Amino acid sequence: MKIHVLDSIVAQRIAAGEVIERPSSVMRELLDNALDAHSTSIIASVTEGGLEEITVIDNGEGIASEDLPLCCESHATSKVTSFEDLYHLDTMGFRGEALYSIAAVSSITISSRFLQNDAFSITIDNGRKQAVVPGGPSEGTKVTVSGLFKEVPARRQFLKRPSTEATMCKNLLIEKSLAFPDRSFKFYSDGQLKLDLRATDKKQRILDALSTSQNIVPSEMLELFDNAGRFSLYALASSPAIFRSDRSHIKIYVNERPVEEYSLVQAVSYGYGELLPGGSFPYCYLFITVDPTLVDFNIHPTKREVKLRNKAEIHHQVVAMISTQIKRTIPRLVKEREE
Ligand code: ADP
Ligand code: MG
Repeated sequence: MKIHVLDSIVAQRIAAGEVIERPSSVMRELLDNALDAHSTSIIASVTEGGLEEITVIDNGEGIASEDLPLCCESHATSKVTSFEDLYHLDTMGFRGEALYSIAAVSSITISSRFLQNDAFSITIDNGRKQAVVPGGPSEGTKVTVSGLFKEVPARRQFLKRPSTEATMCKNLLIEKSLAFPDRSFKFYSDGQLKLDLRATDKKQRILDALSTSQNIVPSEMLELFDNAGRFSLYALASSPAIFRSDRSHIKIYVNERPVEEYSLVQAVSYGYGELLPGGSFPYCYLFITVDPTLVDFNIHPTKREVKLRNKAEIHHQVVAMISTQIKRTIPRLVKEREE
């Protein structure tokens, strides 16, 4: 076959494949946008596990009506301008590809009110953009994604049962919400309220989220801090009295982003060392804040990978913080238990 340039909708769907794998990928991108819009209240809902519909409503800054046709174009973003901006990020988004990708594989309607203007909406149906029309929320932005992968049946085959996809969406929202305790989050599945996380502090947010699935005594979760180095660490970590046989509750965040960084998961384990029986692992939510010039999230479109310039130093500091601060609390815990 001769070389030819792909039809734009085909090209758009291929690119979308990298970022939009299942309903929870849509949820991740819409939540990031709601967070970037400085909203204080975010309401997410799914029907049929997101296969039928995914909606995210925020009370953030909104999108100007003239920007509505642009926001779902490829590489269209209000968050970065130059390449260097990637190393001074204070937003979750920077690729300008999410709405474009979602629009390639679903019917998406973005409705928004900007400042004191009237609200407007736009729909893009599987890559086909419609006209901007009046109407929308009284504040912020509402994004509705329906019929995900209807025109990409091969992708739909890889999806799990709706209840499993709904749980993945809920877990993703919980994961994001831990880094933003000052915002409130609600999650509905098939019209039922499944999660209602009120604005609070970090410790309480983690405890609130954990209480939906785990039976943990709050006093067994300890706050650890280290702000002495070139980066700051905060962890909510279990006392050695409670542990599990897997690492699934060791979660690492770098600059508010949940990341998969095995060496730091290991650092948490090393910190506990002999305090835990062999083969057991703590609950630990670790938040690392580093100078944005020292991290790179531009590794994979889903941004779950991170390159850290001074990883060895962070590793060392995590082990030291956990081992010294957890040990220090043991006498108090023993005393509390005796009383
Ligand atoms: P990115 O987040 O990387 O910029 P997206 O495709 O996710 O790319 O969004 C494109 C643009 O649309 C954003 O840069 C932002 O200006 C606008 N936008 C999307 N969602 C929202 C929202 N909920 N509130 C305000 N603006 C939004
Ligand atoms: Mg985005």
